[in-house]
Amino acid sequence: MTRSETLFAAAQKVLPGGVNSPVRACRAVGTYPRFLEKGKGSRVWDADGNEYIDLICSWGPLILGHCNKEVEQAVLKAVKNGLSFGAPTAIEVEMAELVCQMTGVEMVRMVNSGTEAVMSALRLARGATGRSKIIKFAGCYHGHSDSMLVKAGSGALTGGAPDSAGVPSEIAGDTLTANYNDLDSVRRLLQANPAQVAAVIVEPVAANMGVVPPQDGFLQGLRALCDEFGSLLIFDEVITGFRLAQGGAQEYFGVRADLVTYGKIIGGGMPVGAYGGSRRLMELVAPLGPVYQAGTLSGNPVAMAAGLAQLRILQQHPEVYTGLERRGALLESGLRGALKDVPAQINRVGSIMTVFFTDAPVTSYEQAKSSDLDKFKRWYLGLLSRGVYAAPSQFEAMFLSNVHTDEEIKTIVNAAKEIF
Ligand SMILES: *Cc1c(COP(=O)(O)O)cnc(C)c1O
Repeated sequence: MTRSETLFAAAQKVLPGGVNSPVRACRAVGTYPRFLEKGKGSRVWDADGNEYIDLICSWGPLILGHCNKEVEQAVLKAVKNGLSFGAPTAIEVEMAELVCQMTGVEMVRMVNSGTEAVMSALRLARGATGRSKIIKFAGCYHGHSDSMLVKAGSGALTGGAPDSAGVPSEIAGDTLTANYNDLDSVRRLLQANPAQVAAVIVEPVAANMGVVPPQDGFLQGLRALCDEFGSLLIFDEVITGFRLAQGGAQEYFGVRADLVTYGKIIGGGMPVGAYGGSRRLMELVAPLGPVYQAGTLSGNPVAMAAGLAQLRILQQHPEVYTGLERRGALLESGLRGALKDVPAQINRVGSIMTVFFTDAPVTSYEQAKSSDLDKFKRWYLGLLSRGVYAAPSQFEAMFLSNVHTDEEIKTIVNAAKEIF
């Protein structure tokens, strides 16, 4: 038995499924999870000393790779001054100012996860509009709050039960599901629920059913429909925020949402989420307004130090984004060549991409679901055994960082050539 297998056996006795988040259990690919011990740059090492090129990057946060020196220094410095106060600290102001500058939101509230950011933004949308219903898209994942566990993506897609037990039907009933890249499906729901829809929430690039880019006009169309029906548009930028561009998907696609949620990259690897929007909306949040939302550890100084250091680098080095696009394009074209005899679709936006094992283009959740999961399993295990650590599910993205080298991309492509 490997050390990872031994650890997994012990873990299963005290953690449900041996993990603290379902996808990590690797159940969709029929293997045990590799317990990771160390990361450096674009590499990770498991408990048995195997080295991998990391294409998960903590599911997105590590856009600068593991152990970026400036992020690391900022954290160590913060740690020495105390881990938490539950009182305002200067770094929260700097962080908020930077987030506003980079993204164009006027005010922001820090929370501790993407889930919390979305949950809070939905409450704000409901508080602001006095309406209760929310439209989401099948296959989009917005964290695990009750109202979002309806046709959710990510781990909920491979868990066998797409909708969770324990979500009261009254709550799920207020969540309406539309089809991604299908504006008519949104219009129909808005028309059938007049003046009842508080918000339409969307991953501007769907990345939790695998990467599915918005088709031309889709995000613009959502903006127009929300304006027409008096609903708020929420961009869940937990993945796309600070990744597609400094200003995330709003900047990349040139569409502004009313509320935006952040997570992952914003914390530089520490647990941070945030939601933001116009001053008018954000001033409805407590203590200024009637929408309550709080957090003992929100704005935690160590977490802020990590996030702020990483965001500063992104702000000061716009070439990171051209570099990410270049790496993404290189990997995409390499994989297209390597998989030319395999029925596969490669969907990519910037530095996130998914190889879907199906012969039809994937523009929706239905099409993503038509993928050959046995082929995916072979792909995953083939990569893993060749030293490439990718997401253990067809319905997730590969994440590149700005420290992945061309050499490493070649290694990944060569691995891909050997698998089928
Ligand atoms: C990861 C993710 C979330 C949830 O964030 P957590 O920090 O895991 O709670 C929400 N929305 C999107 C789009 C995500 O990718």
